[in-house]
Amino acid sequence: MSGTVSAGRDQETLKNLIGGRWETAGVTEFDDVFNPATGEVIARVPLSGGEVVDRAVAEAAKAFAAWRDRPVYQRSQIMFRYKRLLEENKERLACSITLEHGKLLAEARAEVERGIECVELACGITMHLQGRNLENVATNVDVEMYRQPLGVVAGICPYNFPAMIPLWMFPVAIACGNTFVLKPSERTPRTAVLLAQLLLEAGLPEGVFNIVHGSRQAAARLLEHPEVRAISFVGSQPVAAAIYREAAAHGKRVQALSGAKNHLIVLPDADLDVTLEAVVGSAFGSTGQRCMAGSVLVAQNRVADEFLEMLIERANNLKVGSGFDPETEMGPLIREQHRERVKGYIAKGEQEGARLLFDGRRASVPPQGFFLGPTIFDQVHPDMTIAREEIFGPVLSTVRVETIEEAIDLVNRSEYGNGAVLFTQSGKAARQFRRYANAGMIGINIGVPAPVAAFPFSGWKKSFYGSLHVNGLDGIEFYTEKKVVTSRWF
Ligand code: NAD
Repeated sequence: MSGTVSAGRDQETLKNLIGGRWETAGVTEFDDVFNPATGEVIARVPLSGGEVVDRAVAEAAKAFAAWRDRPVYQRSQIMFRYKRLLEENKERLACSITLEHGKLLAEARAEVERGIECVELACGITMHLQGRNLENVATNVDVEMYRQPLGVVAGICPYNFPAMIPLWMFPVAIACGNTFVLKPSERTPRTAVLLAQLLLEAGLPEGVFNIVHGSRQAAARLLEHPEVRAISFVGSQPVAAAIYREAAAHGKRVQALSGAKNHLIVLPDADLDVTLEAVVGSAFGSTGQRCMAGSVLVAQNRVADEFLEMLIERANNLKVGSGFDPETEMGPLIREQHRERVKGYIAKGEQEGARLLFDGRRASVPPQGFFLGPTIFDQVHPDMTIAREEIFGPVLSTVRVETIEEAIDLVNRSEYGNGAVLFTQSGKAARQFRRYANAGMIGINIGVPAPVAAFPFSGWKKSFYGSLHVNGLDGIEFYTEKKVVTSRWF
């Protein structure tokens, strides 16, 4: 089929999906898509301009009238079929993720599973879309509240979850009766094509879901297009802040999920073996390229030496390699440029006086591809760059503290508030942490408090711009408008 992604690894040219057709009309520029584990080019992605975006939005607008009038049970049935197709194609999707992102196949499978849970939320749209009513607010006067779709809505996605993050957005948006334009990350665009093929196979009418590949130019046009009613964005903090401002200036509803600097607090009463695996998974899983990645280890003085010793031994044995190799524990970074950026942070940590305990630049890694070993710093001061800025790589910075209050204070002083995690066996400490840590996703003896589709994914501070989050009932609220009808019959 034209525009499809073959299961093979030959270089391919990806296509936009506009009004049900796979095409590259109007595209003059393409970018390379790499396999980060080998450094080889595996595909070419269109860098679409404004004219292509305009056509996609026009097709989505055209499809809206009929789609919003499709009975809600029919829309939900399409989501049930989509869920089954995603399950049947789980391995294909996971392989596509590992190929273009580099994460372990096990991590890619888990990503697809988390994404399918978002489709399950959309399957339940007949319940979630219900309104409310109140009889007799005045004599013979009744009030009803309905939820109605917005129209054309758009999603702009980052590279690090090529399946799950688009699935946070379009299933719920479409189930609510909207039509959708997706701009996947130009660095991991193949998986979105597979997601779209399965959606069409599930019976979605043409034009309801469209893909425009590209980078900032395509995104910029979506932000200003008068027919796009809402923007869902996930990506880095500076871009999220700019997207929020720009889309709002054009009168759009916006949810912009942004960067992170997540703290992992270890108290002396924690089960250290369990904590070790959780910290390793959080800091080095997906090569640190997760918005929920643990980046600052906050160790209470009484446990710091013992725990760091365990951590270094574990880092020393961590096998770095291709995500397709079942023995591998950590894959590559997304691009050479990103690897250089992460190395720059390691150099900066040394310059600012942190103690480099384990240097990922010297680790044994495959010669090809964009690999970097795990890195661990100790004696990091909270004001140092590596303690404040998002690195988005396998670098863990240790700050030592004396009390849990000091640890919570560190979390709260961060500009970011995506996640924070505590390891302890004390219910009192856990409660104190849950109550006073200023972050949206809290983990207690959980290394990665990952999003759960039924709940909002709830970053705070500079980790989120907007008011309604993705997932859960926030997702339904974000993609619908409320209409209140007051009536009296004679
Ligand atoms: P990025 O900000 O570079 O890109 C995200 C998207 O924005 C891409 O589609 C890109 O093409 C587009 N874009 C880039 N610059 C733009 C501009 N100037 N104007 C308009 N669009 C632009 O992010 P990334 O490197 O792909 O992803 C990693 C970042 O995403 C990290 O900071 C990570 O923390 C964040 N992230 C956050 C969450 C969350 O839930 N908070 C989840 C995943 C990733």
